[in-house]
Amino acid sequence: MKPPDPASPQIALISPPWPLYTRPSIQLGVLKAYIRSHFPEVEVKAYHVYLNLAESIGYELYHSISERTWLAETVYGALLYPERSAGMVRLFHSEAAGNRLLRRTDFARLVAQVQAATEQWLSATDWKPLRLVGVTSVLCQLTASLYFMRRLKQHRPDLTIVAGGAAFNSESGAAALALFPEIDAVVCGEGERPLSHLVQHHVMQGQGLQEIPASDGILLRGAPQLRPTGSAFCQLASLEQLPVPDFTDYFETLSGFDSAMRFFPTLPVEFSRGCWWQRETVAGEGRGCEFCNLNLQWRGYRAKSAGQAVSEVDQLTRRHRLLSVAVMDNVLPKDSTVDLLHGLAGLNRDLSIFAEIRATTPLGELKLMRMAGMRTVQVGIEALSSRLLRKLRKGTRVIQNLEIMKHCEALGIANLANLIAHFPASDEEDVAETLKTMDFVGPFRPPTFVSFWLGLGSPAWRHPEMLGLRKVFNHPHWARIFPQRVFHQLPLMVQSYRGGCGRQRRLWQPVRDRLRSWAKTYEELHRGAVAEPILGYSDGGDFMIIRERRLRGDTASHRLEGSSRQIYLFCNHQRSLRRIIANFPSIPADKIASFLQMMSSQKLMFSENNCFLSLAVPIRMPE
Ligand code: SF4
Repeated sequence: MKPPDPASPQIALISPPWPLYTRPSIQLGVLKAYIRSHFPEVEVKAYHVYLNLAESIGYELYHSISERTWLAETVYGALLYPERSAGMVRLFHSEAAGNRLLRRTDFARLVAQVQAATEQWLSATDWKPLRLVGVTSVLCQLTASLYFMRRLKQHRPDLTIVAGGAAFNSESGAAALALFPEIDAVVCGEGERPLSHLVQHHVMQGQGLQEIPASDGILLRGAPQLRPTGSAFCQLASLEQLPVPDFTDYFETLSGFDSAMRFFPTLPVEFSRGCWWQRETVAGEGRGCEFCNLNLQWRGYRAKSAGQAVSEVDQLTRRHRLLSVAVMDNVLPKDSTVDLLHGLAGLNRDLSIFAEIRATTPLGELKLMRMAGMRTVQVGIEALSSRLLRKLRKGTRVIQNLEIMKHCEALGIANLANLIAHFPASDEEDVAETLKTMDFVGPFRPPTFVSFWLGLGSPAWRHPEMLGLRKVFNHPHWARIFPQRVFHQLPLMVQSYRGGCGRQRRLWQPVRDRLRSWAKTYEELHRGAVAEPILGYSDGGDFMIIRERRLRGDTASHRLEGSSRQIYLFCNHQRSLRRIIANFPSIPADKIASFLQMMSSQKLMFSENNCFLSLAVPIRMPE
């Protein structure tokens, strides 16, 4: 595409701190490419300000702050409301307690440093030619986005400021317009079509905001309600209409840094929007995981074709000479995954891909993932209790979780899963089942212990009574950041509730302790030159040896001969007792049952509801 004429209208898109600095913003990259493809005469600047800030305060410090919501939100919170800094210092330090670098950080100095870097960036940027600026706010970006919008309006009072991103939905967008006079318009939901509408009428044709034709997805000052136009939604009917993301600005910024501060970034790609598990009922009621408030900005599920997705990875990795790719989807496409993985493997490049996947992903697809270059995944494990998984509406069982944990271990795919504790409906039985399962999972990479948080718009938030929550409100930490008026009127992404929080913390403490020791043992057993599974087997053709590594160099070995070996191998996938018996008709059923019982009691197999799973990982990587 030809570069626009220097005299052509300009718009800017800003992603403020604190996203991961090692990746360009997928939102900015896609929006820029989309607007440029529809309005080639419009120049679009995409400012990844978080990258400038990360370089300015140092990558390690930036990264530590960006990992936690409250740390991130307090920094620009203190710039927005300096008179409220005292409360924010306390919040920052209580949240920073577990991090050595942050414990030593002087909050006031940090805020001053961030302010200086922000002001330097603002004054080094030419705002004069701009007609419209869009500022995005996803997780951890709310106070930063509000601060940037305020400062931009102070710089250029006549500049049209548009807020967008997941933090602004129809309710919070209307409240934001009422509370923050610097915001002229809010884009709710998917950005491409509403932003194009603003560009066409406001930027190109010069119409005042109040004069532009009604459009779904745009809230305006003085008209803070969505103005339905009769069209279905403000979103694209198909993702096939999206061009390849344009990350030029991110790479230009990076190339301007000192060589010591340059690095090889990860390329974000988007194969789908929404979540096929979160499908809607006929009545329009949302489904999906009980705690999930992802995808609020989208209606329904859309995916690119495998061909389009592969071609984007091909073009982006060639263009930027990089091999590290992060798939931004909440879950990989359901129907086209196999074609997609074949296509990625067919690129014949040593890609290193990260993706989020469901625990129901079959071994065949995991193998393809490994071939395609997926070295790190986040499997939606969430719990080690089937009782709790039902309450979370994950649609999975513990035995499935263990199976995928085992397969990831066998394939050398790092599974960065979470274990959700403190879910309001969890009880003693869920915790007891979790602890019992933990007796079996030591050989697999441990998940991260995360405390349940109530997300605005999640099913749990929409039906608090179902979980016994007495009252739902903005998380009290927000009250340390925002003045009372904002705290009470602006619906915020992180919510809180009354109803059994203390009990939940006590209930889950044993799981937390056990997880710590699991992680420590796993790490110790994986130290050293030989990366052998903790529980692995070597197959001898008509016998097999299972070897269990323990701390301090102890090992326990077991030999399985003939049909015992065959049954054990058959249960590489979870199998029902009925199916095992049917598969080995020459062996008496009671003999099979007692063998399975014995293997389970030795923790070499896991059983649930008469289904059995072998736990040992093949020493040889599966083909
Ligand atoms: S947690 Fe993942 S699988 Fe569950 S509804 Fe959300 S996006 Fe879908």
